Amino acid sequence: MFKRLLESGRTDFSLDIYEKSDELGAGMPYSKAGANAEHITNVSGNEIPELVTSVEEWVKTLSKDILVHFRIDPDKFNDYKVMPRLLFGKYLAAQFDLLKIKADAIGLSVETFLGKEITDIIDYPEENKVKIKLADESELEYDNVIICTGHRWPKKFEGKIPGYFDSPYPPSKLAFKVNHPVAVKGSSLTAIDGIRTLARHNGEFKLDRNDKLIFELAAECEDFKIIMHSRNGMLPAIRFHLEDPHLLKDSILSKEEVAQNKAENGGFLSLDYVFDKNFKQLFKDKRPEFYSVIKDLSMEDFVTVVMNKRAHSEPFKLFKAEYIEAEESIEKEESVYWKELLAVLSFAMNYPAKYFSAEDMLRLQKTLMPLISIVIAFVPQSSVEEMMALHEAGVLEIIAVGGDGEEEPQEKGGAIYRYTDENGVEQANYFETFIDCVGQPHLSYKDLPYQSLVEQKTVSPARIQFKNNEAGSKEADVNDKVERLDDKNYYLNVPGIAINDNFQIMDKFNALNERIYMMAVPYIGGYNPDYSGLDFCEAASERIVNALLKTEMA
Ligand SMILES: Cc1cc2nc3c(=O)[nH]c(=O)nc-3n(C[C@H](O)[C@H](O)[C@H](O)COP(=O)(O)OP(=O)(O)OC[C@H]3O[C@@H](n4cnc5c(N)ncnc54)[C@H](O)[C@@H]3O)c2cc1C
Repeated sequence: MFKRLLESGRTDFSLDIYEKSDELGAGMPYSKAGANAEHITNVSGNEIPELVTSVEEWVKTLSKDILVHFRIDPDKFNDYKVMPRLLFGKYLAAQFDLLKIKADAIGLSVETFLGKEITDIIDYPEENKVKIKLADESELEYDNVIICTGHRWPKKFEGKIPGYFDSPYPPSKLAFKVNHPVAVKGSSLTAIDGIRTLARHNGEFKLDRNDKLIFELAAECEDFKIIMHSRNGMLPAIRFHLEDPHLLKDSILSKEEVAQNKAENGGFLSLDYVFDKNFKQLFKDKRPEFYSVIKDLSMEDFVTVVMNKRAHSEPFKLFKAEYIEAEESIEKEESVYWKELLAVLSFAMNYPAKYFSAEDMLRLQKTLMPLISIVIAFVPQSSVEEMMALHEAGVLEIIAVGGDGEEEPQEKGGAIYRYTDENGVEQANYFETFIDCVGQPHLSYKDLPYQSLVEQKTVSPARIQFKNNEAGSKEADVNDKVERLDDKNYYLNVPGIAINDNFQIMDKFNALNERIYMMAVPYIGGYNPDYSGLDFCEAASERIVNALLKTEMA
């Protein structure tokens, strides 16, 4: 956002940046709040949006101490390598400093405030002003506020129930020894973060005689084991070589295409149209053989074919096979194209998803998103090697708990995991240690920490209308997220607040608010189902700066 404002070249405004921690730029995932030394990025320098200097150039400027600390050889490092998240945080912080120097050079007034938490935001529409309140009770008035507060992991039971963790963050809290099985809820990147930390405190990774990574349990942790619980019992897909490291960002639907399809489809964007345009059609020229196989498949059929393949493979065997496929892809610089295009589809669908009908949104949530979330994880190779070593040492397992699997926190500590297994038998297993690792939760509009926005109804819950009232009525019988509003139409309540295409918040009359912009991912998950990180920040900030400064930047 800062870079976008700077690039506008305008100096007729001033910018105040409030950061509750003591560091600007790194954010949650790339600072101690979200990473330890063992955590690495799943993207490389060439895949991130351009900042000021490239990661490769920046690494060359690092002191010997930092290079040794992060075990980086600057002569071998390049923009195709993933890196420790804490190192990436240092890169982002350094980029922030460079941007500040640039701002000074053009005469843009920027003030930064560290250790300043914003606790409330109050809108004054009549005066066309917004007030912010800080934790120290001071209040300040602005013309505009852009909320970029990123990740949030609310605590429900952690701290009250021993051995129960609502998230694995900050990972320093998992630096303990246990001599019992640990339940992890989830099996993707967040789970891997927790697993990498726990493993290090309960044993050791070593190379065997053939240079293969193995894991040895610590002497006093013989009963340590990690059991991942996932809905479908599947492991995420592995990072491979991308043909277009920026995932065909230009392929997203134009405003005109969205408008035309909505006009032809009763006022809603059709998911089938997006699936065809942003996925199937992209194979036509590049991979004609694959196109001929999928061209007549519906979205549901395509997902079924791919998921069935996964469902019939033992998860760790498939993990190994995909690891080998990914190694070959990286070595030969050849993409696993259908996976790459699924990431393209996920990105392309993100912004216009708010225009789907509720019928299509439900199809998206039930069918396509589970597949996309597996494929776009892009698990880095070293994480895969550690997971395979743990599995081979008998320390890591995954089980399918289906849609109704649930943890039940226990007052004495830990949780009971209840689920129906693949043979239809009900299971209830007690774990002294339970870690919720399902990833950033989609928060409700009521969870917004700026209560004045909720109380004064400056924000409204995100909802998506059913195209067909009969379908809405039928769904309402079985789905408590569906309701009929005063306009007699049925709506599906989706997580978070309503925003428009420019990330401006909207009230319940769908009136946009020109003063307040929201790009913090936990609160906009309903209208933006995929928020995969820095590429989202790049796309959202462009729309915000255009609306804010009433410019059209490329
Ligand atoms: C654990 C983790 C690992 C990830 N790894 C990758 C990866 O490897 N590759 C990738 O592409 N994507 C990754 N992502 C996703 C992506 O990088 C992030 O979504 C992105 O960095 C979010 O940036 P942000 O600035 O919106 O939020 P954040 O990074 O969360 O930053 C928000 C900032 O706002 C501050 N703040 C919060 N509340 C307040 C307040 N009330 N007042 C003042 N300041 C406040 C916080 O201290 C923080 O510095 C990861 C996400 C997570 C959670």
